[in-house]
Amino acid sequence: MINFVGAGPGAVDLITVRGQKLLSQADVIIYAGSLVNKQLLDYKKEGCEVHDSAYMTLEEVVAVVKSAESENKMTVRLHTGDASIYGAIREQMREFDKLGFQYKVTPGVSSFCGAASSLNAEYTLPEVSQSVIITRMAGRTPVPERESIRSYAAHQTSMAIFLSTGLLEGLVEELISGGYSKDTKAAIVYKATWDDEKIVRCTVSTLAQSAKDNDITKTALILVGEFLGEAFERSKLYDPSFTTEFREGV
Ligand code: SAH
Repeated sequence: MINFVGAGPGAVDLITVRGQKLLSQADVIIYAGSLVNKQLLDYKKEGCEVHDSAYMTLEEVVAVVKSAESENKMTVRLHTGDASIYGAIREQMREFDKLGFQYKVTPGVSSFCGAASSLNAEYTLPEVSQSVIITRMAGRTPVPERESIRSYAAHQTSMAIFLSTGLLEGLVEELISGGYSKDTKAAIVYKATWDDEKIVRCTVSTLAQSAKDNDITKTALILVGEFLGEAFERSKLYDPSFTTEFREGV
């Protein structure tokens, strides 16, 4: 049995209870060492075999799992944040399907949620934005043209941009040419929820300089949108005049 487990954004106690339990039962752990907090390995049982996938190819990961399966061992494949966001889990599942291996996924707290918590932010503010776009700049991994940052910027909604800290000048150009004003609120959250987290609040036009000034080159999320500002309406749900299934409005 293989368990894909979301490790959470960084802080060791932000893994789910189920994820922690699976870690403590695993015979084999393959973890994404570039981003997963190594303290999570303290949960492992004695004799558990540990592999860092940062040094491995997909083929090598599959080979480790194959050998574990042949001995009826339980493998935890530990991914940073939630495995459904840039987790490269489907390619593993495809191989496991071919081999007839069973697997299950345990979700995790994605870093875009961790970053919002660090900022005391809410992505979906009434009259400001009711949507969140999760995306990235094209890097060595291409992004389909119809999903360009420029085209998304036209929506002026909340954006959480992954994997793009090294491409900030291009990102700013895309954001502005797509429709965000230069002074739209933005933030850079480096290692959200880790002990060495850094939060930088800025505007779209100052994103690149702000990262430079704070020596942030990787492991950060770029958040953009007026949800980072002060202006918004209160919700209908908690308005005294609003009737719901549970409460009569006055
Ligand atoms: N599955 C992960 C994302 C993996 S892609 C998740 O759900 O969060 C790796 C990218 O995620 C990094 O380049 C960075 O943009 C972002 N990231 C991961 N952990 C982060 C953290 N603690 N703080 C800020 N950004 C983080």
